Amino acid sequence: MSAINEPSFRESVDMMFNRAVALMDLAPGLEEKIRVVNATYTVRFGVRLRGEIKTFTGYRSVHSEHMEPVKGGIRYALSVNQDEVEALGALMTYKCALVEAPFGGSKGGLRIDPREYNEKELETITRRFAYELAKRDLINPSQNVPAPDMGTGEREMAWIADQYARMNTTDINARACVTGKPLHAGGIAGRVEATGRGVQYALREFFRHPEDIAMAGFEGTLEGKRIIVQGLGNVGYHAAKFLSEEDGAVIVGIIERDGSLYDPDGLDVEAIHHWLAKHGGLKGFMDTHFDEDGAKLLEQDCDILIPAALEAVINLGNAANIKAPLIIEAANGPITAGADEVLREKGTVIIPDMYANAGGVTVSYFEWVKNLSHIRFGRLGRRQEEARHQLIVGELERLDRYLGDAWSMRPDFKKKYLKGADELELVRSGLDDTMRAAYQSMREIWHARDDVEDLRTAAYIVAIDRVAKSYEAKGL
Ligand code: GLU
Repeated sequence: MSAINEPSFRESVDMMFNRAVALMDLAPGLEEKIRVVNATYTVRFGVRLRGEIKTFTGYRSVHSEHMEPVKGGIRYALSVNQDEVEALGALMTYKCALVEAPFGGSKGGLRIDPREYNEKELETITRRFAYELAKRDLINPSQNVPAPDMGTGEREMAWIADQYARMNTTDINARACVTGKPLHAGGIAGRVEATGRGVQYALREFFRHPEDIAMAGFEGTLEGKRIIVQGLGNVGYHAAKFLSEEDGAVIVGIIERDGSLYDPDGLDVEAIHHWLAKHGGLKGFMDTHFDEDGAKLLEQDCDILIPAALEAVINLGNAANIKAPLIIEAANGPITAGADEVLREKGTVIIPDMYANAGGVTVSYFEWVKNLSHIRFGRLGRRQEEARHQLIVGELERLDRYLGDAWSMRPDFKKKYLKGADELELVRSGLDDTMRAAYQSMREIWHARDDVEDLRTAAYIVAIDRVAKSYEAKGL
């Protein structure tokens, strides 16, 4: 965190929003309606653990219901607070609008250090939290659909889905109450890797545009680009893995909670990931390359910096020293509004969070649709081929009508779907399509308008405009 007093996370998001809105021509008052958080529910509940009653505090914030259900993850961390879930919920609204996932924005959190509890205890706590939210429709397939976030994953989502199903035994769509579930519990192939995969697709798309890479002072491709990743959790790990294994980028630095590793010749992401899972920190992996002062590595010379953990890691305290000419925000809100300004002045190109980490919610959308459609994505037996074809065409049309959105009719997706491509192939191509389309919608504004200096402002303009249109069409 910055030693300098900076606005809170939610204020920081609002400041970025305001920058964009100032360049737009919205109906009077609409800007405020879009910006504010609709409601935040706080719950305190007790759980009997190890012979005593422990009280937990949790939140579910609903930022915008211009589309329902509202969508967004549930975070488990001791640092969770109301301001944070509200900021994250707002970012979900803009993120979903930008990638055209037909959801409003929401976010939840539980103030807990999950490492302090065993699996059984975590299940009890999670089920109790889910019960509290579900009974108020803050978990519900048509109203509010959570997903994993920091500190949660497939396991927690399976407990939540089961808890909701027990409370709603007649709801045929119960499985769609949460996404990010394990495959055998109604999940979808490729969801775990989706956010990291999205970061890779975002960078690939960026590198397809010579004008854009020139803005960061580069030329060529991702091949050989030196990358520093901050946070080797689910998102950072997958991004680093795919970019190094498939695009020839070199992971020169990794920052984790206990310090950092740096090697200009490249680090072995897979080996470090295993080490972390076993030891909980980087220390001891390669002593000569280890530095206890992890944050210092953010300021190291490299081509691409990928903050993939907490918010506000790049702030007024270090922004001026950041050397990477390109930053891709795999985390939500890793750059404060103040730091954003410093970096913009320096000419750093920032691929903003609401786009860069939208891979997760995009694949969540596919999972939700899969659950609602009650048909398997991908290949079926040969004898069912004809029937499947009829059924799928009908289903896709029905979903398009229901969702008022032509996602499933994207040509590439439809071709693969009808061909019976397997689920992972479908998910990847759907994600790639989505990341390309969203980048182009931001980039068009970035290049066409002289008053739009950066991709973040362009992203906000695209997102706010879509939310505004939805309010204008449907009323408030
Ligand atoms: N927690 C993820 C995010 O911040 C995923 C949300 C979702 O899939 O609903 O985007």
